Amino acid sequence: MTGSGRAIPNAVPHLAGNEWKYLKECLDTNWVSSVGPFVDRFEREVAAYVGVPHGVATVNGTAALHVALLAAGVQPGDEVLVPALTFIATANAVSYCGAQPIFLDSEETSWGLDAGKMAEFLSRECVVKAGQVVNRATGRVVRAVLPVHLYGHPCDLDAVLEVAARYPLAVVEDAAEALGALYRGRRVGCEGLVSCLSFNGNKIITTGGGGMVLTRDDALARRVRSLTTQARADGIEYVHEETGFNYRLTNIQAALGVAQLEQLDGFVEAKRATAAHYAEALARVPGVTVFTEAPWARSTYWMTSALLEGPRPTDVRALLRGLMGAGVGARPLWRPLHQQPVFKAAQAYKVEVATRLYERGLSLPCSVGITAEERAAVVAALADGLGKGASE
Ligand SMILES: *Cc1c(COP(=O)(O)O)cnc(C)c1O
Repeated sequence: MTGSGRAIPNAVPHLAGNEWKYLKECLDTNWVSSVGPFVDRFEREVAAYVGVPHGVATVNGTAALHVALLAAGVQPGDEVLVPALTFIATANAVSYCGAQPIFLDSEETSWGLDAGKMAEFLSRECVVKAGQVVNRATGRVVRAVLPVHLYGHPCDLDAVLEVAARYPLAVVEDAAEALGALYRGRRVGCEGLVSCLSFNGNKIITTGGGGMVLTRDDALARRVRSLTTQARADGIEYVHEETGFNYRLTNIQAALGVAQLEQLDGFVEAKRATAAHYAEALARVPGVTVFTEAPWARSTYWMTSALLEGPRPTDVRALLRGLMGAGVGARPLWRPLHQQPVFKAAQAYKVEVATRLYERGLSLPCSVGITAEERAAVVAALADGLGKGASE
């Protein structure tokens, strides 16, 4: 166990604002289900925060990605470019559309999609036929690209947008981990055709479970709203012209969301302070480098991650297990998706950096409410683990 004898979680919710008050309001007013004033308010306030006209709340972030991809025109048999270094949900949403992911590499600065390799893949491996990008190896249409803003740090989106516009490919942003981050002074989640958020329990703000689709495009917002509400074309006679989904967020969940959003800026400050603390303390520990933000980024540090340059990859695994066994909620980075059994048949193009990051990386406990003593215990446990590895 850690010095205090208590486990230090990786990232747990911080419910310190108006959550009780707004939940009580739902129960007192009988608005508990999939419509209600908090749903409208949450959609309006998140969209305003990010700076887009439309927000459509969804049951979770994965559902948001699913309907965003459909609305972006992804069809069965299509292909979508996805960074290999991300949570499985990013690529699962592609599968739900009957499409296939093609896994691309990350770059070192942001840990996000490498636009240079994306351009290389498109020029070497694809041809443009009748305005469509066709993958030479499979003959399938590459319809969209799904950049991910990883661990609270924006990817280099301008570079991705520039390459995508040349073809063109639809840009669907997975901003599930990066609400509150800034990319070149702009809020993350407002640049692509459409972007998606998650409010799962471990995300920077939570509704228990939830997500949102954000867009500037009026028609796309209407289509997303339709798809999330069983694609009901007529509200009285219940006429349905296509297969929709029941992907709505409930008023109870949205009530939590409104209360959480009020605290978001403070949460970002707390996460940034934790990252700064780890960076400073671990600068004195040889063999470990904290992942810090690019000059053009303001990260939320949803996760504080670090790379272990000293130990061999197998020793990194042992160290991770040691930390977790001692009650320190460290986590590996996302296992690159081309290494996942479920995607073993998927195409991957020169995924190298992502694999190295995975082999050497870990994320440290960084709940909004983490204490100075807990952070010190994490640093001590990590330094101890690294010292052991070196002396063996
Ligand atoms: C959390 C997450 C999602 C999915 O969100 P859920 O709300 O858990 O469905 C998608 N993409 C990334 C990168 C995530 O971290």
